[in-house]
Amino acid sequence: MTETVTSRLDGLRRSIPQGITLVAVSKFHPVEALREAYDAGQRVFGESRANELVEKARNLPSDISWHFIGHLQTNKVRAIVPHVDLIHSVDSERLLRLIDNEALRINRSIDVLMQLHVAREETKFGLTPDEMISLLTPQFIGSLKAVRITGVMGMASNVDDERRITADFREIRHTFDILSQGTFASHPEFSVVSMGMSHDWPLAVAQGANMIRVGTTIFGEREY
Ligand SMILES: *Cc1c(COP(=O)(O)O)cnc(C)c1O
Repeated sequence: MTETVTSRLDGLRRSIPQGITLVAVSKFHPVEALREAYDAGQRVFGESRANELVEKARNLPSDISWHFIGHLQTNKVRAIVPHVDLIHSVDSERLLRLIDNEALRINRSIDVLMQLHVAREETKFGLTPDEMISLLTPQFIGSLKAVRITGVMGMASNVDDERRITADFREIRHTFDILSQGTFASHPEFSVVSMGMSHDWPLAVAQGANMIRVGTTIFGEREY
C-alpha cells in the first residue's frame, strides 16, 4: 500500500495519547499536501517562515489554526500577526513587546510560547531556564496588553542518545513547572508544553509534553 498524507496522519493519530495537540509541521510542503491533511481532519498547522505562512493562510480554509514555529525576525512580526493563533518561538523581551504592539494595533489577542534553549548545540535561539525565569516577572507579564504567554517550547539535543534527549525534555518540563507554580500561578492559560518532533515525540510525551510538532512523519522528507 502506498503511504499517503492521510494514511500517515491516521497512523500517527492512533499512536498519540489523548489530550495532546498535534501541530502538523507543513513547512516547505505545497498547499496540496496541507489540503489533504485538512481533508483528513487536521486543523493545526505549523510553519517556520513568515512569507510561506501568510501565502498558505491566504490559500487555505479560514478555520485552520496557524502556528509559527521558526525563528521570528522582528521585521516579520507585522506580516504574521493577523494570521497566527500561536507563536512558539519567542525568546526576547523585544520580540514580546513588538508582538504586543502589533496585536494591539490591529485589535487582536495573540498567544505565545517562550522558547527555551537546553540542547547541547550552540544556537543563538531560545532563553536558558535562568534567563527565562528572570525575564518573566509578574510586573513584566502584567505590562503585556494583547499577548498572552501560554507556555513554553523547546527542542532536545540533536543526538541519538535517548538519555540525553530525555534529560533535555525533563529540563524543559521542569522549567515550565517552576513558572506555572511561580509567576503564572494565577494564570490558568499558562498550560502548554510544546516539545517533540518526528523522531523524538514519544520521549517528549513521556516527559510531559502536551503539544508536539510533527512534520516528516506526516508529509515525508522536505526538499529545501
Ligand atoms: C521543522 C520543525 C519541526 C518538525 O520536524 P520533523 O522532524 O519534520 O517532525 C518541529 N519543530 C520545529 C521548531 C521545526 O522547525
